[in-house]
Amino acid sequence: MDGVSLRRVEQIQAGTHARIDLDRYEENIRVLREIAGPAKTFMAVVKANAYGHGAVACAHAAARAGAEYLAVARVSEGLQLRRAGITLPILILGGPNLAQVEDAVHNNLTVSVGAVEALDAVQRAAQSSPTRPRIHLKLDTGLHRYGALEAAAVEIAERCLLDDRIELEGAYAHFSSADESTSGVTDAQIARAGQLVRKLNRMGIALKYIHLPNSAAILSERIGESNLVRAGIAGYGLSPSRETDLPARIKPVLSIWSTLTRTFTLPAGEGVSYGLTYLAEHDEQCATVPIGYGDGLPRSTSNRGWFIVNGERCVVHGRVSMDQTVVGLKSAADVGDEVTIVGDPATGAMTLDDLATMDGTINYEIATRITARVPRLYYREGIPVAWDDLLLGESSGA
Ligand SMILES: *Cc1c(COP(=O)(O)O)cnc(C)c1O
Repeated sequence: MDGVSLRRVEQIQAGTHARIDLDRYEENIRVLREIAGPAKTFMAVVKANAYGHGAVACAHAAARAGAEYLAVARVSEGLQLRRAGITLPILILGGPNLAQVEDAVHNNLTVSVGAVEALDAVQRAAQSSPTRPRIHLKLDTGLHRYGALEAAAVEIAERCLLDDRIELEGAYAHFSSADESTSGVTDAQIARAGQLVRKLNRMGIALKYIHLPNSAAILSERIGESNLVRAGIAGYGLSPSRETDLPARIKPVLSIWSTLTRTFTLPAGEGVSYGLTYLAEHDEQCATVPIGYGDGLPRSTSNRGWFIVNGERCVVHGRVSMDQTVVGLKSAADVGDEVTIVGDPATGAMTLDDLATMDGTINYEIATRITARVPRLYYREGIPVAWDDLLLGESSGA
C-alpha cells in the first residue's frame, strides 16, 4: 500500500471498523468446494455487499479461491463488480429490475428469467448488445417467490429456442427449507426441478448449468443432479441455521473493532445512556465506545451484550444508542484502547450468531446490517492489505 493508504489504515484502525480476513474467506470456499465435489462449478454469492463483508474484495478473493461464477441480487451490484474490473461471469439472482436489463446485458451480466416480462426485456436488449445475452431460467419449484412454474418455463424455453441471439445457459431453483433437517420439502423440490429440466431437454434445450444447492444444501450434501452450487453464508464462515453444523475448518471471516473514546467513574446511584436503564450500585469504572445501532449493532444488545476490552468481558450498560455505547470496565483502561465488538468466541467476544440470538433474527440479517459508515479493512496473513470506506466512496483497491 502507498503512504496515503497506510495513513488511512491507521485512521480506520483508530475508530470503529470491520476486519475481513480474506485468507479465511478463500479457505472456507476451498472447504465448500471439497464438500460439493471438484466437478461442480462454484458460484460465490456476494450480494448485499458480500453479506456486509465487501463485495469487490470478496469477489477478487473468491476468484483466487477458484470460484468460476459470482452471484448478486441487483443489476447495480453486478455493475459495481464490473466497474471494479471483475471479469468472472456474474448471475443476477431473482427478478431483475426490467429498466436495468439493458445495462445488465451490455455489461455481460447473466440475467435470471423467471417471468416472460424479463425475457421480453432481454430480447429488446439483445438488439443493441455487442455480445450474446446469457440467461438462466429461474424455476419456481415451491419457494414461490420468483420463478417460472411449468407453463411459463415451457413458454420461455420455446421462445429461447426460436431466438439464437440469446444463450439459455442454465436453469436453477432455490430451496425453501434446506436449512431444516427435515428433508421432505427439499427432496420434493429436487424432484420437481428434475422433472422440469427433463421436459426442457426433451424440447431440445441443452443446459450448461443446472443448480439448486445453497450453503445449507451443500453442507448437508443435497446436491442432486446439480452441476453448480451457490454458496453465500457458509463462505463467510457463518452457519445457515442453528440446525446446520459447520465443519470445523470453516471459520468466521468478519470481526468488528473499535477503541475507547472516554473512561470515567459512574457514581453510585447514577444511570447511563437514554432512559438511564442501568443504575450503578456503587462507583463503577465505565468506558464509552463509538458504536451504536447506526453502525449495525442491534439495540437489543442494550444491558445484555458485551465487548472485550484488554482481554476482559465488559457488559453493555444502559441502552445502545445510534452512535455510542457504554460498557462497565473490569480493570483500568485508557482512551484509545482497542475494543472487540464481534470476534473470535475463543477470546470471549460476541459472534454474529450471538447478536442474532439477542435480536431475535438470523446471522444473515446482522451481517448485512453493518452500515456504510463502518469502514472495512481487508487482511491477509494478519496484515491489512486493502480498505473500503463506502461513505466517502474511497477504496484502496483489494
Ligand atoms: C442468497 C441466495 C443464495 C445463497 O444462500 P446462502 O444460504 O447464503 O448460501 C443462493 N441462491 C439464491 C437464489 C439466493 O438468493
